[in-house]
Amino acid sequence: MMNQQHRGIGMTSQRTRDRLIQRLQEGGISNRAVLEVIRNTPRHLFVDEALASRAYDDTALPIGHGQTISQPFVVALMTQALLRDGVPQRVLEIGTGSGYQAAVLAQLVKEVYTVERIEALIISARRRFMDLRLRNIRIKHSDGTAGWPEYAPYDAIIATAAPEGVPMPLLQQLAPGGRLVIPVGGSGAQSLLLITRTAEGYTDEVMDQVSFVPMRTGMQ
Ligand code: SAH
Repeated sequence: MMNQQHRGIGMTSQRTRDRLIQRLQEGGISNRAVLEVIRNTPRHLFVDEALASRAYDDTALPIGHGQTISQPFVVALMTQALLRDGVPQRVLEIGTGSGYQAAVLAQLVKEVYTVERIEALIISARRRFMDLRLRNIRIKHSDGTAGWPEYAPYDAIIATAAPEGVPMPLLQQLAPGGRLVIPVGGSGAQSLLLITRTAEGYTDEVMDQVSFVPMRTGMQ
């Protein structure tokens, strides 16, 4: 996915990326496909140029508008959870942000739908998807607490901002057998939930304690 222009830059060196992958593995990420996609996705193109030297650190970084690009470990953990029982075809993401999580997903599943409430972030994410020739991502400026009904149901839904409670539309737009990965709770005390839609209803398990930006309603 990298072209010549990105290849020469020192901070994107193979060694820097290998170090990140090793860290993810030590943290318990074992899905080979997920690890390879993260190794090959140019995260430095999803952050401000001034932060590019830290793009392969395992940390969240600011992307403007009070938002952050998620920590690579959390991206890996959530992506691995979505893929655990087979590769979903159609995935919805709430909270496009920089577009990094969507770009990772787009290399692993057939179709990605992603929504973001801040228009300025939509514009830069769309440009990145074009530059990287990721053509299986559809992006929309909207309030994701309503999901994206037009293309429902989804085999998987991933939320990268934390609501106080799981929005009902996300549960409703999940296909039978589908899974929703979502951080839930107030700032500083969120549980990362994996919710599965079964024939009888929904089951859920707590995967981790996490810290995401809040899911807000309305658009900006
Ligand atoms: N997945 C992103 C993470 C961005 S942080 C990435 O890889 O960079 C979470 C994002 O969720 C923010 O950009 C925030 O604006 C967005 N967000 C918060 N509430 C939302 C809502 N109701 N609908 C859509 N996006 C929302």
